[in-house]
Amino acid sequence: MIYLHVHPSQHEMQVTECIPEQYAYMCDLKRTLDATGHCVLEMPSGTGKTVSLLSLIVSYQQFYPTKRKLIYCSRTVPEIEKALAELKRLMEYRQECAETDEEKEKERNFYGIGLTSRKNLCIHPEVSKEKKGVVVDARCRDLTNAAVCEKGRQNPGSVELCDWHEELGKREPGNLIPPGVYTLADVLEYGRDNKVCPYFLVRRMMPFVDVVIYSFHYLLDPKVAEQVSKELSKDAIVVFDEAHNIDNVCIESLSIDLTRPMLDSAARSVGRLGDKIEEIKKTDASKLQDEYAKLVEGLQDAADNEDAFMSNPVLPEDLLKEAIPGNIRKAEHFIAFLKRFVEYLKACAPDLFLQETPLSFLQHLKDITYIERRPLRFCAERLQSLVRTLELDRLDEVHSLQKVATFATLVATYERGFLLILEPFETDNATVPNPIFHFTCLDPSIAIKPVFERFSSVVITSGTISPLDMYPKMLQFTPVVQESYSMTLTRNSFLPLVITRGSDQVAISSRFEVRNDPAVVRNFGSILIEYSKIVPDGIVAFFPSYLYMESIVAAWNDMGILNEVWKHKLIFVETPDANETSIALENYRRACDNGRGAVLLSVARGKVSEGIDFDHNYGRAVIMFGVPYQYTESRILKARLEYLRDAYRIRESEFLGFDAMRNAAQCVGRVLRGKTDWGLMVFADKRFARADKRAKLPRWINQYITETASNLSTDMAITLSKLFMRTISQNPNENQTGISLWTIEDIEKAQAQQKEQQAIEAERRRDDDVMDEDDDEYGNGGFDDEVLANMDLDV
Ligand code: SF4
Repeated sequence: MIYLHVHPSQHEMQVTECIPEQYAYMCDLKRTLDATGHCVLEMPSGTGKTVSLLSLIVSYQQFYPTKRKLIYCSRTVPEIEKALAELKRLMEYRQECAETDEEKEKERNFYGIGLTSRKNLCIHPEVSKEKKGVVVDARCRDLTNAAVCEKGRQNPGSVELCDWHEELGKREPGNLIPPGVYTLADVLEYGRDNKVCPYFLVRRMMPFVDVVIYSFHYLLDPKVAEQVSKELSKDAIVVFDEAHNIDNVCIESLSIDLTRPMLDSAARSVGRLGDKIEEIKKTDASKLQDEYAKLVEGLQDAADNEDAFMSNPVLPEDLLKEAIPGNIRKAEHFIAFLKRFVEYLKACAPDLFLQETPLSFLQHLKDITYIERRPLRFCAERLQSLVRTLELDRLDEVHSLQKVATFATLVATYERGFLLILEPFETDNATVPNPIFHFTCLDPSIAIKPVFERFSSVVITSGTISPLDMYPKMLQFTPVVQESYSMTLTRNSFLPLVITRGSDQVAISSRFEVRNDPAVVRNFGSILIEYSKIVPDGIVAFFPSYLYMESIVAAWNDMGILNEVWKHKLIFVETPDANETSIALENYRRACDNGRGAVLLSVARGKVSEGIDFDHNYGRAVIMFGVPYQYTESRILKARLEYLRDAYRIRESEFLGFDAMRNAAQCVGRVLRGKTDWGLMVFADKRFARADKRAKLPRWINQYITETASNLSTDMAITLSKLFMRTISQNPNENQTGISLWTIEDIEKAQAQQKEQQAIEAERRRDDDVMDEDDDEYGNGGFDDEVLANMDLDV
């Protein structure tokens, strides 16, 4: 591991040792931060993207007196934990390197923390045992909401409180934990040792820390962002790491699916709320009157947001700051309103597929039920107020109703960029009706717009984010820097190969028309057999979908191909079930470790393709069977493609090609996790041979696909692979210094060259300017203004 020590003085950086890609990456990052703009950067896998990013930004923070907070977003909890561990090591190193006492003190007073859900951070002995996240959230809220806490503190023992939450409340805000960098495991340990709640500790420390690392949703999903990230300062630096799927996260955060059981449960919850209102009317009617008075005054959310049961799902600039409309102010009126709305949704479950815009849905709703758009917009807010007034417990039981209210608010707020799709059957082959309401967001730029508007520097980065210009188009922003880095290697540590045909010269492809052709299936099978013979330890194979994988594996079984593979390696299969997959993965790793070797059959866009590394012996070859196009018959995808075409002039084929190639790159990128690692990347489909397809791959992969390697038959590919493995095992050539590893001298040389280049550029620009000025004079006819003014032009 290489650590970088960067001092971003006014004009240059000092780095002690790094690899060339890291240096270029940091230069571009610094340019972005200096310009307080946004950027899209693609850095090859395994070249230390996270450490470069953290090194530069932390140096930036420590150097400038206006400490800009770093908000670092990653996809999964293991990735968050990895980034925190990296930051911790970096800060230890910085402390070692600090020269003066003042510098040492500065490094010691640095705060870095990570946030994840209550489910991962709860230490309450009962609550933490719950398996579902929503249940943990609900039970925690029962113990920590403002009303319960007040009651419990006034009258100890009258209600159950959480001791860990109470203990935290006694501490001074901003000083809940000593300075330092804490991984999620560290915070849990600190919480247990000091008897304080780790979850609320992190939440309350967020305004005071230098770096916070959490998941994309905490910034992109307005329901969560409103509660968690509202107070983060505007000059913060936001980083979205592993952002190759950021458009999908944006879309998911504003889309809702409502199923029939959910609507039934929502209807039951409405009934329960109605009963509760009747009960309260008899015992404590003043509560409802108080709430009514507050709503009249427009005090929608005076309570502390920390324990809010739900937040407004719409984006900040779309929020209405008015009083809640009169016809839903009274609790019983609101209940009647909800009842009508849920009944309407239940009745909208025809046998036919239906697709409509929010506007036409609202019109139809009004015609049938007289429900107007304005009260519908306030549904989420009104429900939150009611739940708080009624002091409901077990809030997980009103989860479906909460979804319905969120849907109501969203559908009544947005006219453009959303579509309602009602599908009578859950899947295409289903015969029993199970209607699903998809309220789907089609425009990823809607969710990310407030992030770009609010924060001055947003960095979008990943190992595979090509083609880069697609992201600014889809997310509607203008980057100051947009760069993809090549990979410097002293020896080729990976070999990308495109197999277009089998040894029998039959073209192979996962195209719909030929994908089940026995010749194609057999050729795919023989690729796996041949590679399982020659590749040591682990092979990971990816298919475009579960359905396709199932049919191929069944066919391979019948053809005896699996038996053949078994002779050389064990076979494990990824399934949609997360637990099953993690068991398969564990055993796969065990088989790779003990020398038996294994093949893991998995799917693009599945769990394995995202965030799981197959470094060293866990992945010596990765085979991509077919091009992982999305299922184009999906109505949601069709609607999105139509929208992209109309709104942003992105053609269907352009988007589908981009999406397929980014997923293929993501899959094959799993095999290489560092410059000392090595592996084979096999693209098995004749369509990968096309130059336009390959151009969509990241530059660092594409640069190593030679003309010969882009159109191979299985036997040719095997010959090349054998040769590659022989070379890689015989020529260790660890000394990468000067080429793929720069010492301080190499860096200085590069800096000097860079300066020289800049001077030449500046000189050239000056010359151009002089020429332009000359041109201007000539443009005026060769006379200056004074001469022209004195000329007698009246001829
Ligand atoms: S306050 Fe913390 S420890 Fe207590 S239940 Fe909630 S998450 Fe768990």
